[in-house]
Amino acid sequence: MEFTERSLIIKVGRFREIDLWVRLATPSRGVFTAFAFGGSKSRRRFLGCLDPLNHVLFRFKKSPRGEYLYLMEGTLISGHPHLRSNQRMLGRAANCLKFYESVYEGPGDSRQGFELLSEALSVLEAAVDSSPMFPVLFRAKVAFTQGYGPALLTCPHCGKDLRNSVAPMFLVEQGQVACTEHIQGSGRRIPLGTEALDILRIVKAGRPEDWHALEPSPVARRQLYDIVDGIVRYHLGLAWEDGRFQRI
Ligand SMILES: [Zn+2]
Repeated sequence: MEFTERSLIIKVGRFREIDLWVRLATPSRGVFTAFAFGGSKSRRRFLGCLDPLNHVLFRFKKSPRGEYLYLMEGTLISGHPHLRSNQRMLGRAANCLKFYESVYEGPGDSRQGFELLSEALSVLEAAVDSSPMFPVLFRAKVAFTQGYGPALLTCPHCGKDLRNSVAPMFLVEQGQVACTEHIQGSGRRIPLGTEALDILRIVKAGRPEDWHALEPSPVARRQLYDIVDGIVRYHLGLAWEDGRFQRI
């Protein structure tokens, strides 16, 4: 069986002299590994394609027993050259890719996530600079795309506008932001100021180009770190350990 699909390359490795394995994100099959036999030699079939961060249209073929997929040929859609030449941006993109890989590992429809990742890389490619918070906000957006994340406008208990609440809190286990009067129950609580709340709203409603350059104050930055960490740990079951996101 053969099929063609757009792919974003996460990692590439060599497993025999001229053969490569390629870790890919795809819109309809999640994140998986495919093999490029002769990949390190074949210029004709994979011209400029087999590098991390590349957006490529690949033709895939299933092995006779369906155990693995291999790459027949590729056409480069975008190589993100600017991003690649800027260490800061590259670091931010790599962090987004690592997170994406952990969330979307395995088969499944990941169309919305894939478009988000593709857009995030395009924004980093086109921008002169981006916010150091970009990977954190990307993680928040992935969580929102997956259906997690609190209501950010009103308290779920009384309907009060959270902007008018003196000190709203994000209740991690409950996945809610509550007004001062309705901070109930045990578990981890993270204060959420107006600035952090506004940024989360922009991330939830907007696209990467709307939030890639946001520079929160140190207080809002701390709150955003803690809240996104809470959502990712508690609701996606992932934590940053030993240089990658791992299931906890
Ligand atoms: Zn309330």
